Amino acid sequence: MRLSIVVPCYNEERSIGPLHAAVTTAAAALPDDEVEILFVDDGSTDGTLATLRSLATRDPAVRFISFSRNFGKEAAMLAGLQRSRGDAIVLLDADLQHPPHLLPQMVALHKQGYDQVVAVRDRSGEPALRRIPARFFYRAINRWVDVRLQDGAGDFRLLSRDVVDALLALPEYHRFSKGLFSWVGFSTISLPFRHEERQAGTSTWSFGKLFNYALDGLVSFNHKPLRLVVYAGLLQTLIALGYAVWVVVKAAVDGVDMPGYATLISAVIGMGGIQLMVLGVIGEYIGRIYHESKRRPHFLVRETDSTGHCRAAPIGSRTSAPSM
Ligand code: UDP
Ligand code: MG
Repeated sequence: MRLSIVVPCYNEERSIGPLHAAVTTAAAALPDDEVEILFVDDGSTDGTLATLRSLATRDPAVRFISFSRNFGKEAAMLAGLQRSRGDAIVLLDADLQHPPHLLPQMVALHKQGYDQVVAVRDRSGEPALRRIPARFFYRAINRWVDVRLQDGAGDFRLLSRDVVDALLALPEYHRFSKGLFSWVGFSTISLPFRHEERQAGTSTWSFGKLFNYALDGLVSFNHKPLRLVVYAGLLQTLIALGYAVWVVVKAAVDGVDMPGYATLISAVIGMGGIQLMVLGVIGEYIGRIYHESKRRPHFLVRETDSTGHCRAAPIGSRTSAPSM
């Protein structure tokens, strides 16, 4: 069997060496399988590319692609999946937070017939500042979005060729992989693991970035938020109607008195706020349509292990363009 290990790297010059060593050790436990390591340099500004170049000349199992700029982890994973040649593909973070010693176990489960082997981390060692929002996010997404997401199940997983082909056939520009993995289905099994501390460098995920990612997840799968807005509008109309009836009845019974400035102002401000929010939700979807309709490539390649050509690689090009 051929196993491809896809590693997205953004400014990971200090992690690549130890990661390569750990993967090589783990691969030694798989003597029957041919292992390739495919690094995707996501426009790093440090020595990542130079490290990859020298690694690729030393180890024939190492291949790499380098982007023209930072396109984000989703794009890097997509590029890795497109270029991978294996019968099974493992997505692995460069920072050693995804322990490579699980590889033989994952491969064994795949050989038992599972198409997705998902390493699920426990959050025991994590700071509350990250654990609690994460729990909230998974509650919200499982309630409002049509796909089921499991807390702790991230990108660290083994995918069979069938799953990868299914993922590559999804052409959307906004890619929310956690959702896509679950959407494609196939037989899935989870494998618990302990999350390790980052070995070197810092996480690129600030709280703001994570919040935006969560919002992306919520709106990228369906239009349920729009449905929610319809309900909110309906509720508000009902409340306003009730209030209007009360005002009319009160005027008929007690006679008309003029004061009501405070009520009026709160109603106007409240209405304005709700309308802006609703417009924001609609705008979010229109923005998505706009982005999808441009059909820009997900990433641009500046260099690979074999050539230094600059070439756009839109989705679906895997079959039409030779992999460089
Ligand atoms: N990464 C990437 N592009 C980015 C940000 C991150 O390819 O724009 C890679 C990064 O090098 C690492 C993985 O994605 O291999 C996970 O990133 P990070 O450790 O920052 O995320 P966390 O583990 O905190 O979720
Ligand atoms: Mg990390």
